[in-house]
Amino acid sequence: MKNLILTLTLMLAITRCSHTPAAGDTSAKDAAGASSLREKNSLETTIYLQPFGNFTEQEAKRLTKSLDEGLHKIFPKVTYKYVVLAPKPLPEDSYYKPRNRYLADVLLKHIGTDNGFIFGLTHKDISFKIHGHENYGIMGLTRVGGNRSIVSDFRVGKNNFVPVIVHEYLHGVSSAQHCENQDCLMCDYSARKNKKMEIKLCSEKHGTIR
Ligand SMILES: [Zn+2]
Ligand SMILES: [Zn+2]
Repeated sequence: MKNLILTLTLMLAITRCSHTPAAGDTSAKDAAGASSLREKNSLETTIYLQPFGNFTEQEAKRLTKSLDEGLHKIFPKVTYKYVVLAPKPLPEDSYYKPRNRYLADVLLKHIGTDNGFIFGLTHKDISFKIHGHENYGIMGLTRVGGNRSIVSDFRVGKNNFVPVIVHEYLHGVSSAQHCENQDCLMCDYSARKNKKMEIKLCSEKHGTIR
């Protein structure tokens, strides 16, 4: 029984960012505004970027500039330091041959850092077992409250990749859950129907910065 509870908790703790609305993903509403979230964060954080496969080191380095602008829209007081790691081949154990995809939860196990936050970056389609599907294409996967994300631009419109990364970062660093407001960055990707994502939060509280 204890194991079952542990498993269920783990499942709930993984936030799926998919193309269809995830019922029950919306967190309890709180009266505190997004500004309180900004005020708390005045630290220095190291962001590690781990490119996989044909995602090049140069692309990751170019990404740091727009990512820095994106992160500062939410956390203007934080100084981010970026470390681009040497690209690694996509791990064989993450490959899902029937659909030529890579399993996001397995990829997550291949990245980690003791400090700061790490993003695994790939151009390949990534997937996760959700919505009754054994293998469902997603854009990013982050354990709520964790310090690592895997993100893919395969399903992401060109202008939306940085917003997707910042969205995933908030799932991790501030334990943010999904929001029903379609104009809010924390809205599930599916609910906004591919419209351009703005890096701004609605007036709801989206978690607490650690
Ligand atoms: Zn999400
Ligand atoms: Zn919101």
